[in-house]
Amino acid sequence: MEKYREILHKYWGYESFRPAQEKLIGSIAEEKDTLALMPTGGGKSICFQVPALAKEGICLVVSPLIALMKDQVENLRKRGIGALAVHSGMTHKSIGITLDNAVYGDYKFLYASPERLSTSAFRERVSQMKVSYLVVDEAHCISQWGYDFRPAYLEIIKIREILGRKVPVIALTATATKEVADDIMEKLGFKEPNVIATDFSRSNLAYIARECEDKLGNLLAVCTSYQERLGSGAGIVYCRERKRCEEIASFLKSSGVSSDFYHAGLGKEERSLRQENWMKGKTSVIVSTNAFGMGIDKSDVRVVVHMDMPDSIEAYFQEAGRAGRDGKPSWAVLLWNQTDTKKLRQLVNVNYPPVEYMAKVYQYVFNYLKIAYGDGEHSIRKFDLMEFARQYKLNAVSAYYAIKYLEQEDYWELTDEIDNPSRIMFTVGRDDLYAIQMENSVMDEFVKSLMRTYTGLFSQMVRIDEEYIARITMDTPENVRAKLQSLSRRKIIRYIPQLRTPMMIFKCPRFQENNLYISPKRYKERKDQMQKRVEAMIDYATQKTTCRSRYMIEYFSQPVIKDCGVCDICLSNKKLSDRKIEEEIISLLNQSKKKRMSFLSFKKAVPPTLQERYITVLRDMADRGIITAGDDGIYLN
Ligand code: ADP
Ligand code: MG
Repeated sequence: MEKYREILHKYWGYESFRPAQEKLIGSIAEEKDTLALMPTGGGKSICFQVPALAKEGICLVVSPLIALMKDQVENLRKRGIGALAVHSGMTHKSIGITLDNAVYGDYKFLYASPERLSTSAFRERVSQMKVSYLVVDEAHCISQWGYDFRPAYLEIIKIREILGRKVPVIALTATATKEVADDIMEKLGFKEPNVIATDFSRSNLAYIARECEDKLGNLLAVCTSYQERLGSGAGIVYCRERKRCEEIASFLKSSGVSSDFYHAGLGKEERSLRQENWMKGKTSVIVSTNAFGMGIDKSDVRVVVHMDMPDSIEAYFQEAGRAGRDGKPSWAVLLWNQTDTKKLRQLVNVNYPPVEYMAKVYQYVFNYLKIAYGDGEHSIRKFDLMEFARQYKLNAVSAYYAIKYLEQEDYWELTDEIDNPSRIMFTVGRDDLYAIQMENSVMDEFVKSLMRTYTGLFSQMVRIDEEYIARITMDTPENVRAKLQSLSRRKIIRYIPQLRTPMMIFKCPRFQENNLYISPKRYKERKDQMQKRVEAMIDYATQKTTCRSRYMIEYFSQPVIKDCGVCDICLSNKKLSDRKIEEEIISLLNQSKKKRMSFLSFKKAVPPTLQERYITVLRDMADRGIITAGDDGIYLN
């Protein structure tokens, strides 16, 4: 383990592995086929990256989404580690070059999207590579029973056959029931079953689900009570809609809680600034869509509040789990009401539009982008969903889910909005600029700020961020944009405003109507599964009997732990049974002579296993003046 710790420290700067990581790395180091079950954010990546760095050869990683893959590759490169990626967003030529580099170059990681695996170019090169490990990220994608089945994942076994069984396979996932785990190991041809599961229980985290109409009032009560009790520590409030994030943040602010909002509609710099302020404790509560939290690692989050019901326990567990990483008492509060459960059930139908509808949307997308039958593979296009929906008179939400469904079928991938930042460049020389500036002092100050903030403005288009400029000039982003536009109209600068469009990456050529096959069986399975997940989420919130922590852990088919003792259900059970004990004590005393008992006979009269509980309740009753307990025994007042 020491050599791995050195690598961890050298490349990542972390001091130590988390206990679950050590266990997992132990198994990987022994070259065993390994299935790792670890919650999101648990740090799965490092567990294969560190051993791969310690071993000769290149580590082959299969990952379902291009966006995820790029993220990881960038992250490795930033640390000075050679990493490559091949996916359908690249041309044949650049895929060829990349694969050659993987064979001959000095690289430690090759990320591949699953639909690349079946190509002959890929298979030929793989047989020439010295592969250290075959890693399957988000391994549940291989199982039809899983959360997010991807047919192309079934190709992985063929790669394994090319490599030979000597190359260990490492499968990683956060969401596998027992059924799915067995399926993963079978489909990947494990030599023997080997699951390394993290303990999913979080003993310091108290889960609370509260049915309420006044969510804002409840939220405020939660925020103020934890701040009063703890003084410090951060909070996250999750909410589905961007606009609502803004409203909630301003409500909290006006109620005296330091807060800010965060969502993917903000510019990149603005987002990282807000995140940083929160990380440093300058703002304590961040109100956000689920865009927030990916890859953040803040240990002192005291409370995570959900204003909307997530659509699965998987998602809830992951988001709620951002609280209390430091092991100190923390809360995960879900505020819900009957409207939420109704909306959530409707969401299933919205998420799964009819198959015929999806087939129509499929063709429309190609028509919209003017891509002919048989064309389009490997192309990446800007894709404006709203515009697309308008043009074909589609409901944008339904169209979105049709596109997302076809993404699961590996036809294409629609990325989130990608930042194409605004750019400017001066079209006049420094001297002319000087003359122009004199006309107007406000503009003069503004232009000077631009020059102070960015370099190279006279020679090239430079990326800028209006929100950042707004902050340093103490102005609003709208005003900054207006000023830039005005400069542009006066031909002083060239200004290309930010373009935030999602990209469509095509993985297959366009099929004719009668060649496009969307499996009705798979469709039904997926829809049923979402239904099941949604019902489980609703049941989690509405049920009043099972410890919440235990409920979730059983849902993940993890070994059953004891009740947490701190969730709302455990607390109310405890209160309930305390009240029962109290009644028992009163009736005991009522039955005894002169309503008085000696302490010794009291102890004899109560069930031996519950003696301590009885004594605790007894003390509490004495405190409240219901009974008196003294040297002469216990009696009712
Ligand atoms: P997962 O894939 O399990 O969701 P990641 O591999 O993306 O999680 O890691 C989540 C975060 O935890 C990353 O920011 C990572 O750098 C961080 N992390 C992982 N291991 C450690 C560690 N031993 N110490 C500190 N931070 C870690
Ligand atoms: Mg991961």
